[in-house]
Amino acid sequence: MDIFQDISKLKEQIEKSQNIVILGHYNPDGDAIGSCAAWYNYLLGLGKQSQIILPNDFPQNLKWIKGSETAITATQDIKKVEAFFADADLIICNDFQSFSRVDKLEEIALKSTATKVLVDHHVDPEVEQFDLIFSDVESSSTAELVFEVITRLTPEMPLNRAVAEAIYVGIMTDTGSFSYSSGHKKTFETVAKLIDSGIDTCQIYQEIYSTFSEDRVRLLGHCLANRLTVLQDFSTAYIYLTKEDLREFREMPGDTEGIANYALSIKGIKFAAFFTEREKRIRISFRSKGDVDCNIFAKTHFNGGGHHNASGGDSFDTMQETIQKFEKLLPELEFVK
Ligand code: 5GP
Ligand code: MN
Repeated sequence: MDIFQDISKLKEQIEKSQNIVILGHYNPDGDAIGSCAAWYNYLLGLGKQSQIILPNDFPQNLKWIKGSETAITATQDIKKVEAFFADADLIICNDFQSFSRVDKLEEIALKSTATKVLVDHHVDPEVEQFDLIFSDVESSSTAELVFEVITRLTPEMPLNRAVAEAIYVGIMTDTGSFSYSSGHKKTFETVAKLIDSGIDTCQIYQEIYSTFSEDRVRLLGHCLANRLTVLQDFSTAYIYLTKEDLREFREMPGDTEGIANYALSIKGIKFAAFFTEREKRIRISFRSKGDVDCNIFAKTHFNGGGHHNASGGDSFDTMQETIQKFEKLLPELEFVK
């Protein structure tokens, strides 16, 4: 099936839309912000103003991305967000497969009569929630899919630098700086086209990965020194952080991103989890190598999902109970047998 078969419908829709909302998921990451900013700058190039809306704030190291400064969040001004949804005739949804991932905006979004477009690379999209779907689990990132969509919408239009930068951020961050996508020739071909649009890949890398706060780096140190458990017998490692830990290191949005990967970076470890104590829940990130399926594990045991090698979920038990439950499940997993 051609996943781009509805391109002309999207083109028509964009042409007639007056009020376009660009939506990203809760705790937006580089792929969500990159995808939203790419749409924003692309639409500006067509002479169309749009509004980026997010459930909550996004990390400081993404704030330099052109267009991201125009985003409004539900936590900051819900009345303004509601007003934009009330007027919207088109909602472009990025990097999530179900409105359950936009937190408090779920109901508002579902009730909206606007045409809803999905651009995403997660498994199991909730197809009945969207009018037009551009979904591909094979894609490195949603940002790469945004590239595919916009170059099909206007093949004659050169990609401007702001669009190319935003797309590059999404691809780079969602592939772990190209470490999960080495087999994907197409991703590198896309990047070559982005470089042709004038982006500076070294500068973008520096902006994203060399601008951390001292607190963030020390929080990582605390995780590795004091909060890491390695269960070699089960090829598994996990890290946990309590509310007190997060307070001590003055956590800011994005500060815990990437921590799960450190547990996975140990030789012999195929499965990693990272537990963070949040308001009324334990948020969990799962990461795996090779055949180990994080998506199924998160979906079956922890109310979540995502991708084969990276997924997320929630537990509504205490931290201790959650970790106990996790450890108890390990002996049953296929890869430890
Ligand atoms: P992270 O651990 O970075 O929060 O999430 C890893 C991946 O899984 C991301 O691509 C994210 O979008 C996805 N993911 C995280 N939480 C959930 C969830 O609750 N449900 C689904 N379907 N995907 C999730
Ligand atoms: Mn993504």
